[in-house]
Amino acid sequence: MTHTIDAEGGCLCGAVRYRVSGTVEESGYCHCRTCQRQSGAPVVAWFALAPSGFSYVKGAPKTHRAAARAGREFCGDCGTYLVFREDDDTQTLSVNTASLDDPMLSPPAFHIYCESRIGWFDTTDDLPRHDRGRTG
Ligand SMILES: [Zn+2]
Ligand SMILES: [Zn+2]
Repeated sequence: MTHTIDAEGGCLCGAVRYRVSGTVEESGYCHCRTCQRQSGAPVVAWFALAPSGFSYVKGAPKTHRAAARAGREFCGDCGTYLVFREDDDTQTLSVNTASLDDPMLSPPAFHIYCESRIGWFDTTDDLPRHDRGRTG
């Protein structure tokens, strides 16, 4: 199920701010090791929309390339992980939901990469759980 969003968000220190506008194509939890490492948290909630619906309105992020096909954008001052951006701009762009000023705007609807869910961490929902991506 898709919904629309028109909102702002940003990093912990306020140096980097963004605006999102458009149709949210997906909204979920990612339990992959890369998200865990980059965020320092057991899980990352994210939502995806067309890259054209996302823009930085203050500051500029740094980018870490954990994979060949995409960059992970974060605040170079405070470290907040904000965005997963594919090099292929026909793919959706993923924004980390908790960085929204109002994270309630995009509740997660599924879990991915449950194969690396940390054993002491779980949520009490009945959302679909995928070992890897939504198709795997
Ligand atoms: Zn910051
Ligand atoms: Zn992940």
